[in-house]
Amino acid sequence: MQHILDAIQADATADEIAALEIPESYRAAYVTRDDQHMFEDRESWEKDPRESIHIDEVPTPELAPDEVYLAVMASSINFNTVWTSIFEPLPTFGFLDRLGKESSWGARHALDHHIIGSDASGVVLKTGSAVRNWKPGDRVAVHCNYVDDQDPAAHEDSMLASNQRIWGFESNFGGLADLSIVKANQLMPKPAHLTWEESAVNALCASTSYRMLVGDNAARMKQGDNVLIWGASGGLGGYACQLVINGGGTPIGVVSSADKVDLLNELGVEHVINRSEEGYQFWADDHTQDEGEWRRLGKRVRGFIGDDPDIVFEHPGRSTMGASVFVTKRGGKIVTCAATTGYMIEYDNRHLWMRLKQIVSSHFANYSEAWEMNRLLDEGRIQPILSKTFDLKDTGEAAYQVHHNQHEGKLGVLCLSPEAGLGVTNPEKREAIGEEKITLFQRHADSLDATENGS
Ligand code: NDP
Repeated sequence: MQHILDAIQADATADEIAALEIPESYRAAYVTRDDQHMFEDRESWEKDPRESIHIDEVPTPELAPDEVYLAVMASSINFNTVWTSIFEPLPTFGFLDRLGKESSWGARHALDHHIIGSDASGVVLKTGSAVRNWKPGDRVAVHCNYVDDQDPAAHEDSMLASNQRIWGFESNFGGLADLSIVKANQLMPKPAHLTWEESAVNALCASTSYRMLVGDNAARMKQGDNVLIWGASGGLGGYACQLVINGGGTPIGVVSSADKVDLLNELGVEHVINRSEEGYQFWADDHTQDEGEWRRLGKRVRGFIGDDPDIVFEHPGRSTMGASVFVTKRGGKIVTCAATTGYMIEYDNRHLWMRLKQIVSSHFANYSEAWEMNRLLDEGRIQPILSKTFDLKDTGEAAYQVHHNQHEGKLGVLCLSPEAGLGVTNPEKREAIGEEKITLFQRHADSLDATENGS
């Protein structure tokens, strides 16, 4: 891949990039079918991505007509990287096998190794014969909605298509690699003021938060809405807070440390609850929830805003859903896209129906929603929440940190990019938006490291 990196760094022309030879193999992070039962006798928290994620050369797949070869400059860790690498709630090879049966192009995916990663920034190297809007040399960010247009439902909202998949999770050839194949309808222009790694961490989490809060398909936040956000300094939450502020609402963030409270205050979130300090015990035991604890959370929120939240931004799942349904305002919405702590959910239905609340489901974002979110990043209205950057060889360690909630915001991964800080092609725009704003999460992580190391 060195000749490709050299050409990109030398700002080669579209023709020069198009003439580059695509190598027969490339470096990638993957899990193997042979390993899929390796953690069966361990508790979830003991399953270690550092043991299951391999970094090695893999064969380059053939290119379908609607795809491009992408030189991946950077990627990111998502929670689905964790799910795949600990083989929970189930191994992802079943997804690949199902895709393998769909078409002859789909058959490429049903392999004994699964290349993971659902985010990327990079450079288009070659386009398939059906690709119209992109050309070699284009600098892009990639969203992970992997869908074709032969299902009528996809034309209303591609998230409704029966063959909708998440790239690099339910498909092979993901972004944690030096090369990838992606569909042309996953591509978006890379914001010119951001580095490769700052551009690579946004699409999955930011677009998901956009659909949950802003797009037409989920909670449809209004100006002035109060929004309670769980995990407010995490991947989804860090963008959710910014979208609420940007849209004229008031976020109330929930986090688990004083450092995260400080970070959110600096992001502009005035009201932050430290759930560790409060010591909420929503579950009295495995079967019983404590309404008194829900009430205590609701009181805390009212203490801030004098009201109940119009929207609760849900993803922890089993541990918080009962509380979320309880504290939501009469007529308000609980918008959910995940269940990190367990998907068998319990809540008191009386609080839902008697107070006319709605639980709204949401899942990633369609191309249009992802594109609109990318535009907000490109215009500098929303900032990337990159906190730390790892090398591809350390993907397992980065996934371990996310699995154990040791991170803030997003963790970036350098693929072809030889070092952090490269890829900015519009420094004037970066300066106008403000280095301080763009790098808030990075600076915060650096200062925590410095404190820990006693410097
Ligand atoms: P992160 O780990 O970055 O953030 C999640 C946050 O949740 C943590 O920072 C933590 O914050 C908080 N949290 C963890 N456990 C609890 C708990 N018991 N109670 C309250 N809060 C808790 O993950 P992401 O934001 O990237 O993803 C969150 C979930 O959403 C994952 O399950 C992921 O798979 C899913 N997801 C789904 C998508 C979809 O399209 N459907 C897209 C993206 C993600 P703190 O400790 O500070 O409170």
